[in-house]
Amino acid sequence: MIIAIDGPAAAGKGTLARRLAEHFGLELLDTGLLYRAVGLKTIRGGADPGDARAAVRAARALSPSDLEDTALRGEEAAQAASQVGAIGAVRAVMLDFQRTFAHTPPGAVIDGRDIGTEVCPDADVKIFVTARPEVRAERRLKELRARGVDAIHGRVLQDMKERDARDAKRDVAPLKPAEDAFVLDTGDLDADAAFAAALDFITSRNRRG
Ligand code: C5P
Repeated sequence: MIIAIDGPAAAGKGTLARRLAEHFGLELLDTGLLYRAVGLKTIRGGADPGDARAAVRAARALSPSDLEDTALRGEEAAQAASQVGAIGAVRAVMLDFQRTFAHTPPGAVIDGRDIGTEVCPDADVKIFVTARPEVRAERRLKELRARGVDAIHGRVLQDMKERDARDAKRDVAPLKPAEDAFVLDTGDLDADAAFAAALDFITSRNRRG
């Protein structure tokens, strides 16, 4: 089984993906981490994340150790990811790995922006997780503060809106729900309620065959 989870920043995709993977015994892939690693590698190589040739070079050279950097969770990596993610040739390099991962037994829960639309249009389940920007910024703020990062709500909200706009407006694989996606608004739901709603959708869908 392949479960595709897409949606904007801090909507609750990661937590939901992890819980679904545990529940169904599937592998888990956070594709945001891949784009963050490419963004950071591009910067560390001395180039601008908007530089297509440098970003493609970084994507091709990506290795498992690049995915272990603690800086990947930071804002610099997030913005760089969004810039390299807008480059079609970078996305092309990432595509094979993601598809192979998805189709390797026992299957996978994959989260990102274009999983249901581009990476796995054949996914058995597609969920688009979303929430109001203010709610998402508040969650991201809590997450940052829990990690000891000093942040202010207004700045987090602004950075997030900027990234969402770039992700939604880009020409290649823009952020949008697949036509057959279940749209899950987590604005008024905690992690348990979001998981329950997703599970409900998957089981009712499986019953219908
Ligand atoms: O999910 P996360 O916030 O870690 O993603 C960071 C950035 O990577 C996103 O804002 C987006 O620009 C890019 N991304 C993407 N396609 C994906 C996953 C992430 O373009 N499948």
